[in-house]
Amino acid sequence: MKYILLTVVIAGGVILIVGLRRALQTYLKFRGKRLVSCPETRKPAAVRVAAGNATLKATVGNEQLSLSECSRWPEREACGQECLAQIQEAPNACLVSTIINRWYQGQNCAYCHKPFGEIRWHDHPPALVDYERRTVEWNQIPAEKLQEALGVHWPVCWSCHIAQTFRREHPELVVDRPAH
Ligand SMILES: [Zn+2]
Repeated sequence: MKYILLTVVIAGGVILIVGLRRALQTYLKFRGKRLVSCPETRKPAAVRVAAGNATLKATVGNEQLSLSECSRWPEREACGQECLAQIQEAPNACLVSTIINRWYQGQNCAYCHKPFGEIRWHDHPPALVDYERRTVEWNQIPAEKLQEALGVHWPVCWSCHIAQTFRREHPELVVDRPAH
């Protein structure tokens, strides 16, 4: 009797660990904002998968996804969410963070010309500069306009963005010394 009970407890523990692992993998895979091509308009839309919901379903082996956010909502909230097929096919490639990171790789800062290495989003996030030399932070650009923004901006490192912003906001405090 004691051994049967022990076997049941161990089997239960293994099932629980496998379920939790699957849930964690699902959560990590589907969190974050993504850019898809809306099947209805053929234009970019920014969406978010209901990662928490997907995680709960994954624990019982159900891999059906749903959206929790879309830039076309609330107007098109009743759509069939056909764009989920794009996310299931390439979950990483359509992540907004992947698209932005790839854009910086191999490029240099428009001001100091330093190459972008590993990007430190938590404390030194890089920015963009438009043709009017105005630097812009990523949180000012809606994700659905991402591709458009990448076409009309240049990359700027964090230090140059801070320096340029200061220069723009306090021109009276900036003195340009001629180079020797
Ligand atoms: Zn720079």
